[in-house]
Amino acid sequence: MSSRGVVIVGAGHGGVQAAASLREDGYLEPITLISNEREWPYQRPPLSKAFLKGEMDLSGLPLRGEPFYADNAIDLQRGEAVLSVDRARKRVTLTNGGEVLYDHLILSTGARNRMPKADGLERQGVHFLRTIADAAVIRAGLETAQRIVIVGAGFIGLEIAATARGLKKSTTIVEIAERPMGRAVSPQMSQFFRAAHEAFGAEFRFGVGLEAIDGPGNVVGEVALSDGSVLPADLVVVGVGILAEDRLAAAAGLACANGVVVDARLATSDSAISAIGDCAAFPNPFGDGLIRLESVQNAVDQARAVARRLAGRGAPYAALPWFWSDQGDLKLQIAGLAIGVDEWVERGDSRSRAFSTVGFRAGKAIVVESVNRPADHMAARRILGARLTMTPNEAVDPNFDLRKLALSAPR
Ligand code: FAD
Repeated sequence: MSSRGVVIVGAGHGGVQAAASLREDGYLEPITLISNEREWPYQRPPLSKAFLKGEMDLSGLPLRGEPFYADNAIDLQRGEAVLSVDRARKRVTLTNGGEVLYDHLILSTGARNRMPKADGLERQGVHFLRTIADAAVIRAGLETAQRIVIVGAGFIGLEIAATARGLKKSTTIVEIAERPMGRAVSPQMSQFFRAAHEAFGAEFRFGVGLEAIDGPGNVVGEVALSDGSVLPADLVVVGVGILAEDRLAAAAGLACANGVVVDARLATSDSAISAIGDCAAFPNPFGDGLIRLESVQNAVDQARAVARRLAGRGAPYAALPWFWSDQGDLKLQIAGLAIGVDEWVERGDSRSRAFSTVGFRAGKAIVVESVNRPADHMAARRILGARLTMTPNEAVDPNFDLRKLALSAPR
C-alpha cells in the first residue's frame, strides 16, 4: 500500500517548519500542509512591529519564497480548513469536501484571540490582531485615527502603543492588572517599560477593565471602563491574550487542557497525532507541569523535534524557551521562564536603556531579561540551556564575563 505521508494542519510558524524539517531530515513520503488562510504562509511578529509601522510591506512577510513548497514536494493547500479528524480511518475532512489520508498528523493550529466580555466589540474601529488582514486594517486605521485606546498591556498591546506614539497619536493603554506584561516579566522590567511608554507619551490606566465600546451609529466613539470613566476613542485595539486553537483536537477526542495535551515527545493521546506550537500543552523541563508557550522559538523548535522523531531520531523536547518584543527603541529579549523566581538582580544600569535582569530560584539562575543587550541574551540562552549558573553577586558584577561562562557550555 502506498504511503499516505504526513498531513500538517495549519501553516504558521510551526506547520511550515515541520514541513521543511521533514524534508531536511530526509522524509520522502507525501507532505500535505493545509492552511485556512489564503495568503502564502507568513511571519506574525512583524504584524505588530515593522509591518504596522509601515517599515515593511507585504513582500517582507512570507515565511518562505513561493517556489519553496513545490520545490520540496510540499502540497500546500491554502484557504482550506480542516473540519474534522477521523482517527479510526486516519483521514481529515476539508471545507471543500475533500479528504486527505495520513500516516501521521501534525496539529499546528495556533491560537485565537481571547474576547473580553464587553459590549460593542463589533463596532467599526475596534480591532484584534492575529492575521495579516487584521494588521492591514489597523495600519490603515492608524493613519487617520487620532485617539487610540489599547486594551491590554501585554507584548502586542505595548508594541502597537509604541507604534501609535511614533505616529504622534494620543494613546491610552488600559490594563486590568497593576503593571504591564505582568504575567511575563519581572516587576523591575514592568516598571522600566511603564516609565518608557510614559516617556513615549502614552498614558496608562491600571486596575481597570473594559466595560463597553460605544459611539455614533456603528462606529467607535468612546470606551467605558470598569471604574465608570469614559475615554474618547476613534480606534481601539483589544489584545487581552489568546486561547489555544484546540477545538479540532477536542472534537476528535484528543486530550485537551488549555491546549492539546502532548507528552515529552510532543505526541498527543493518539500516537499517530502530534501537536506543536501555540496550540500544544507540553511538559516543559524549564517550567512546572504542563505549559503552553506562545512564541516563534517554541513553534519552530517543536516542529524540528517532531520531524526528527518521525525520521526515527526522537528525543524528549527540552529546548530553552526564549522570546523577544520590540517597543519603540527598546528590544526586550527573554531567555528562560520566570516561574518561581525568588530573587531578581540587575546587570548594568536601566538608566542607560541597556541592561539585564537575572532571576534566581533557590540560588539558581533561571531567567535573564535583557533590554538592548543582545550579547547578554545570547550568552544567557547558552548558560541557561546548559543549566549552568552564576551567583547573584556574579550576575551584577560588570567584570563577570557572561560570554566566557556561555562558552564553557557543552555544545
Ligand atoms: P500560528 O503561526 O498561529 O499558525 C497556526 C495556523 O493554523 C494559522 O494560520 C491558523 O489560521 C491555522 N489553522 C487553525 N485551525 C485550522 C484548521 N482547522 N485548518 C487549517 N488551518 C488552521 N512570538 C515571538 O516569539 N516574538 C514576537 O515578537 C511575536 N510577536 C507576535 C506578534 C503578533 C501580532 C502575533 C499575532 C504573534 C506574535 N508572536 C510572537 C507569537 C508567534 O507569532 C506565535 O507564537 C507563532 O505564530 C506560533 O506558531 P504556530 O504555528 O503555533 O501558530
